[in-house]
Amino acid sequence: MKWRDEIIRALTQLGGEAALDEIYTKVKGNTDKEIPTTFRAVIRNALEVNSSDSENFSDKEDVFYSVHGKGKGVWGIRNFKVTEDNMDTTQDDGGFSEGRQNLKKHLCRERNHELIRVAKERHKVENNGSLPCSICKMTFSGKYGVLGDGFIEAHHIKPVSQMKDGEKTKIEDLIMVCSNCHSMLHRRKPWPTKEQIYSILFNSED
Ligand SMILES: [Zn+2]
Ligand SMILES: [Zn+2]
Repeated sequence: MKWRDEIIRALTQLGGEAALDEIYTKVKGNTDKEIPTTFRAVIRNALEVNSSDSENFSDKEDVFYSVHGKGKGVWGIRNFKVTEDNMDTTQDDGGFSEGRQNLKKHLCRERNHELIRVAKERHKVENNGSLPCSICKMTFSGKYGVLGDGFIEAHHIKPVSQMKDGEKTKIEDLIMVCSNCHSMLHRRKPWPTKEQIYSILFNSED
């Protein structure tokens, strides 16, 4: 197995995106190959020659992308498909009223990493470099410091039931929200709109 394929396997196990340190550890744990003394450089190189985000791209296969831009050390696999089997649900999805299967389908669409990357980038530009929740305006970096840098969730405003077979997710269908507002958006069916959640939060005094 090539190092490139070892990285693909590791990133798949890590949910499609991961920091270099996690990738190193996973690859080491998986591989039967001998670990060279220059292991870290070898892995970094395998990422870079297979990524058009890098100056070292070899022009052969564009497999990886750099998650937060150059030099941040977080990598993802292009076209990584979150499936209902490999997704991890941190939510108590049994508690959602919309049904487990539909919710899972919905969450799969919300974890289309590349599309989200573009949507996040756009949101960031529109907000002068920060990533506020579109509803309550909190930013994870404001609340959690460095740990929260770059974190925001994407919510797809169209329910699965309203999408035609094979219909693709568009950037316009995604809104960037914090985890609390996101959970509230899924709390009830039909889903509340972002305006409804906003008015619960900010118009409750009168
Ligand atoms: Zn929020
Ligand atoms: Zn959602």
